Amino acid sequence: MQEITAAEFDWEVLNGGKVIVDFYSTECPPCEALASKFEDLSQLYGNDIKFLKVFRQGNRELAEKLGVKSSPALLFYDKGQEVASRLTGGIKRSDIIRNLDNMLTAEKVKEIKSHIKPSVSEFDVIILGAGPGGLTAGLYLCQSKINTVLIDIALPGGHVSTTHEVSNYPGFIEPQPGFMLSHNMSEQTKLCGTIYKVAVDVTRVDLEKKEVVLDEYETVKAKRIIIATGTTPNLTGAPGEKELKGKGISYCATCDAKYYNDKEVIVIGGGNSAVEESEYITRFVKKLTIVHQFDKLTANKQAQDKVLKNPKINILFDSEPRAFIKEGDKIVTEVENVKTKERRKLVSDGAFIFIGMKPNIDLFKDKLELDKWGYIKTDEDMKTSVPGVYAVGDVISKKYRQITTAVADGTIAAMAIAKELD
Ligand SMILES: Cc1cc2nc3c(=O)[nH]c(=O)nc-3n(C[C@H](O)[C@H](O)[C@H](O)COP(=O)(O)OP(=O)(O)OC[C@H]3O[C@@H](n4cnc5c(N)ncnc54)[C@H](O)[C@@H]3O)c2cc1C
Repeated sequence: MQEITAAEFDWEVLNGGKVIVDFYSTECPPCEALASKFEDLSQLYGNDIKFLKVFRQGNRELAEKLGVKSSPALLFYDKGQEVASRLTGGIKRSDIIRNLDNMLTAEKVKEIKSHIKPSVSEFDVIILGAGPGGLTAGLYLCQSKINTVLIDIALPGGHVSTTHEVSNYPGFIEPQPGFMLSHNMSEQTKLCGTIYKVAVDVTRVDLEKKEVVLDEYETVKAKRIIIATGTTPNLTGAPGEKELKGKGISYCATCDAKYYNDKEVIVIGGGNSAVEESEYITRFVKKLTIVHQFDKLTANKQAQDKVLKNPKINILFDSEPRAFIKEGDKIVTEVENVKTKERRKLVSDGAFIFIGMKPNIDLFKDKLELDKWGYIKTDEDMKTSVPGVYAVGDVISKKYRQITTAVADGTIAAMAIAKELD
């Protein structure tokens, strides 16, 4: 692995051969998360592919010329030409490996893979998920001098890092950009000494043995496991939804309704959460249109009665969203009547989607006692039905899911574990 400057780029990269270039910056948590993976992979692939690093801030002109707009950015070259898609953000080891393997012959890949040595490391506690729940548990455990590893399939922060503004987290007078709040939480926990393994693939979790396998070859063992893997909102799947998430499309009324004072919004869904959240959103907006796929609401009768009587709410039955488009500061939702197939465009200031959330438990759901919605049951110490396994935050069975409640759960689990391991 070698560090180069812009002056050396043409010779080292464009002059032929297979090359991977890491454009990195300082004070860049995803760059830090990538550094050890890059180093590690250079040991494996370094004889066949040249591993180079370019300090982006010190070589701005080169980065701009190549269209590198974020750090880290991995670029792949073969015979002087860029090959493979660029990787940026929370880059996973498996994504780098896929691109590297595509640059080599099948025989070469097989030979390289035969050199991979499985590794095993041991900790007191494994925390799965570095959102507010996991980060808080990590902080408390670390401050109790308990050797803890935080594992996340993405970069630390959880939902908060993609939330536009958070105005209900105590201790801040002004609303905080979500990414700042999650960055501060993460840095506080890291500074204490908690080990991070982030942007990894979690290959396997054995709750009984307290073992987690990462990126197929790395086994992490512990005495306790905390599950803090949160939830994923169900998506409509309509084009534009993913791109506009946090930019006009929201999945949380408590968090975002207040930004739509006197504006018009649409709500997708017709079950309990859609109907109850719609009622709440009308405290702020002047008009709200519910788009629901069936010919009647599926929420409970009491909630239905309230919205049906609410003069601010209009309901479009038998309708599903087909596309979300941003036009200036408006969100245009293309809606199709599922019976007549007629399409129309609804122009609003924002869209809320409440078609359910699902807990992230695929890797261990068969082992744990769950409630009827699939959330993990815990006791008051956050213990699950598997001895030595705790769960905190949005992934557990509870009524209210907020940053403050996740943080509280993380605190409780960590204190309970600290007492047990004492
Ligand atoms: C759009 C939106 C806006 C919100 N705004 C607010 C707000 O303003 N105020 C407020 O109080 N609440 C808000 N909430 C709710 C709040 O974000 C959640 O209650 C809180 O983030 C829950 O924290 P958590 O740690 O339980 O889970 P999450 O924040 O969901 O974090 C879970 C973490 O686990 C990781 N993970 C998932 N699967 C695995 C796996 N198999 N292995 C390892 N890691 C895994 C994820 O990558 C993620 O980093 C909002 C929610 C959404 C969706």
